Amino acid sequence: MPNEHALLSASGAARWLKCTKSARLEEQMPETTSIYAAEGTAAHEFAELAGKYFTDAISETEYEAKVEELSKGEYYTGEMLECAVRYGKYARERLDTARKTCPDAYAVFEKRLDFSQWVPSGFGTGDCIIVSDGTLEIVDYKYGKGYRVEAENNPQMKLYALGALNMVWTLYQVESVRMSIFQPRLSQNASFHEISVSDLIDWAETVVAPAATLAWNGSGEFCPCADTCKFCRAGAVCRARATSNTAISRATTEDTLTLEDMGEYLKRAEDLETWLGTLRSAVTQELLAGKTVKGWKLVRGKSTRKFRSEDEVVEKMTKAGYAEAMLYERKLLTLTRLESDFGKKTLAEVLGDTIVKPEGSPTLASANDKRPEYVPEDRLVNQLFDNK
Ligand code: SF4
Repeated sequence: MPNEHALLSASGAARWLKCTKSARLEEQMPETTSIYAAEGTAAHEFAELAGKYFTDAISETEYEAKVEELSKGEYYTGEMLECAVRYGKYARERLDTARKTCPDAYAVFEKRLDFSQWVPSGFGTGDCIIVSDGTLEIVDYKYGKGYRVEAENNPQMKLYALGALNMVWTLYQVESVRMSIFQPRLSQNASFHEISVSDLIDWAETVVAPAATLAWNGSGEFCPCADTCKFCRAGAVCRARATSNTAISRATTEDTLTLEDMGEYLKRAEDLETWLGTLRSAVTQELLAGKTVKGWKLVRGKSTRKFRSEDEVVEKMTKAGYAEAMLYERKLLTLTRLESDFGKKTLAEVLGDTIVKPEGSPTLASANDKRPEYVPEDRLVNQLFDNK
């Protein structure tokens, strides 16, 4: 993946399409990087390799040599390779489907996609594009497992779709674009969405182009909300976000809150916890850098006792006459760790019938959450009787 970033990137589109002022504000903030980003880069290298191998773009010898080389990387795990293989097979499956109606269909990987016709200097990198007459397909590989990303109406995917369309439309008769997100650590199945070329172009011209012009010029509106602000680089210093999060009061004359009040407060404060975390972290960084923040200082946090060296403990205890075996307890590795070390496939084959998934405890979620509503068992029984 190239390291350069567009001001109006596809990955940030969900934000700058709504909060058009965010792009220029973010531009003033330092770039940050994380262990997850480095892990994602390594995972994409494996995915590209597996994609090329399973679609016959490289030989088995090339594939194995490169896998061996990449496996020496700092972030390599068995799970990373296994996920890449599943992605490669998925790309193959999609290519085979395309070839049923278009024998010339082919796959390209890690392709720069230019959508600057609608977004100033807009480009991104498409993980896999299946070029074909009829339905053009783009596949995005997401190695993260923090939260599931859906393909439906996903602006990042639609911008990639525009870039892919731009790349092929003089040579291929494309009628629709199928966008799929393959997120192997969270699901066996890809999330996908198909859009007609005419709807895609209409969105590009009526929604994207006007918002992109505003965003490029740093004009328009700030649009603070949990979704837009969550990963915004300006999240700690943005006044619009602060104003929105501190203006959640609601007119009420009662001494106690009604259930409606409570629900409304929770709705208005959706971004509050994340924002406070962002503020805490930003102020901590400033204090660490020697700046003064009125009303705040750094102190030593709570710490727990620990041994200076485990070897030293064993040596001293055995010298004192205690058997070494008495100092250890046998502990099984966690399921996640076993999956990471041996790969999901191996674990499913060997331990599949020993893995159980208890029901999760009831958790509060927004009414438009996609998960089905949880109804306690006694209420289910009552509902059954009521319906008789
Ligand atoms: S923090 Fe929120 S409101 Fe402020 S610029 Fe970023 S996305 Fe927009």
